[in-house]
Amino acid sequence: MQDSEPSAPPAVPPWRLLLGYVRPHRWALLGGAVLSLMTGAAGLALPLVARGLIDDLQHDRAITGALLAMSALVVANAAIGALGGYVLRYTAESVVLGARRALVSHLLRLRIAAVDRSEPGDLMARITSDTTLLREVTTDSLVGIGTGGLTLVATLVMMGVVDPVLFAVTLGVVLGAGTVIGVIVPRINRASRQAQNAVGAMGASLERVLGALRTVKASGAEHREEQAVHAAAQESWRQSVKAAKWSALAGNTAGLSMQIAFITVLAVGGARVATGAIDIGTLVAFLLFVFYLMSPIQQVVGAVAQYQTGAAALARIEEARQLPAEPATEPAPLPSLGAEPAAVAFENVRFRYADDLPYVHHGVTFTIPPRGMTAFVGPSGAGKTTVFSLIERFYDPGEGRITLDGRDLADWDVSGLRSSIGYVEQDAPVLSGSLRDNLVLGNPGADENDVLRALKTTRLDGLVDRLPNGLDTLVGHRGTKLSGGERQRVAIARALLRRPRLLLLDEATSQLDAVNEAALRDTVADVARTTTVLVVAHRLSTVTMADRIVVMDAGEVRAVGTHRELVAADPLYAELAATQFLAAADA
Ligand code: ADP
Ligand code: MG
Repeated sequence: MQDSEPSAPPAVPPWRLLLGYVRPHRWALLGGAVLSLMTGAAGLALPLVARGLIDDLQHDRAITGALLAMSALVVANAAIGALGGYVLRYTAESVVLGARRALVSHLLRLRIAAVDRSEPGDLMARITSDTTLLREVTTDSLVGIGTGGLTLVATLVMMGVVDPVLFAVTLGVVLGAGTVIGVIVPRINRASRQAQNAVGAMGASLERVLGALRTVKASGAEHREEQAVHAAAQESWRQSVKAAKWSALAGNTAGLSMQIAFITVLAVGGARVATGAIDIGTLVAFLLFVFYLMSPIQQVVGAVAQYQTGAAALARIEEARQLPAEPATEPAPLPSLGAEPAAVAFENVRFRYADDLPYVHHGVTFTIPPRGMTAFVGPSGAGKTTVFSLIERFYDPGEGRITLDGRDLADWDVSGLRSSIGYVEQDAPVLSGSLRDNLVLGNPGADENDVLRALKTTRLDGLVDRLPNGLDTLVGHRGTKLSGGERQRVAIARALLRRPRLLLLDEATSQLDAVNEAALRDTVADVARTTTVLVVAHRLSTVTMADRIVVMDAGEVRAVGTHRELVAADPLYAELAATQFLAAADA
């Protein structure tokens, strides 16, 4: 995703992609193009009316009619021109909107493995910056190639009718120029692609800095980070200038070819007039056609050059749309009140995060019956969080089977699976927005009573009372306005509000003070009576009250049992228990 070199061209050529985005708006686009052509035609009619007016004057006739016709023509021309321009722009904006919506819908459903390989800032640039480039492509390129191409062909046909020899001469010059432009065009494409890649890189490095500005400041790294962002901006500038250079060259080649055509036609035509092959009138008419050819050729060349920028953007958009995603399904309903708690089992699960990474799970096996609390303990990096990621189906295991209620996760509809689960991640993420938004994120249908109850059980009610805007207080980007412990309690309340059949808590109380931790422990014990609860445990106090403990080490399950059994049977567990801190260093 972050390569600055253009990667292999997508299987579908850019123009097909473009037509795909334009298809829903094809009639509006056609209407806009026709209106634009009409303005041109109305402009051509004006001289004819003017001639009539002069004629009337010379013959002492009333000019009211001609004046009225002229005024009407001028007004109609302006109105049609404005309408045509508006319709074209409207259509172009609709194309941009369509591309943005399609891309956003896709990116929100990306598989986590694809997210791991991407830079969010770069993906963001594809949605914001690359899609914007489709606007000019739609209006200038498509319409330009359409109307310009039409005029070009019509003029060429006329030329062929007037004098085939001069036509052949003109065509030769035009084809020569076409070849030169054909060589230039891929360079515009490459430069545009690299300019857009650099915009993506800039987005990525900006996101990196702004997402961790406190760390950057504390490390005194502003200067270095600034240089990285500047370098990306500079690279985009450099490549855009390069694209501009090639575009200018293409435009001038087109202009030059017309001058050459003019001179050649004049010379060859003059000779033909001298030999009597054609009369002088034909030569003048032909020269006028060469003159008329100028504008559509410029238009077509401009459109082709513009299209290269759009094609580069289209390729980047398509690249993001090719990232593997989960199927877009309707959100599944949450479990009803009193739904049966879930059973979970791992059978010989082997898993690695990517093909080029070492295995994280080497044959993990355990069985967890419905209800009760199971604690996962083990040193940092043992693969505990990975167990939860696999249960949520953020990733699929390489070998082995994971089942929920005895059914292979692969057979579950992903949204149905996730609706059964409440998951508090290790770093308890909180989203920008209000406290209320965060709480009902996983259950938008929760009513006020549910929310108040969740606040009480997670001991957040005191905090909400203190806040000036209560539940509507904004928590800032990633919840920076909350303390670490508050964030954890918000995340727990959010998970509880889903009334899950399976609750996953990954070191969910690690940042709580002793009083709050003890209270939350009671809450979790209470929940475990009606729900299956899996906790990656942080404190011995939590572990000892678990119904069963799974000891993990280096991607394997060492032992399963109760605290009493394990202290006697498993040296690693005994050691962890003795230090009172189970996986405390884990972050
Ligand atoms: P634990 O929660 O037991 O501390 P994890 O399950 O988080 O351990 O991680 C197990 C191993 O997997 C670690 O070595 C870690 O570096 C690696 N790992 C975790 N997440 C990813 C990821 N998204 N991509 C690649 N490797 C990862
Ligand atoms: Mg972990």
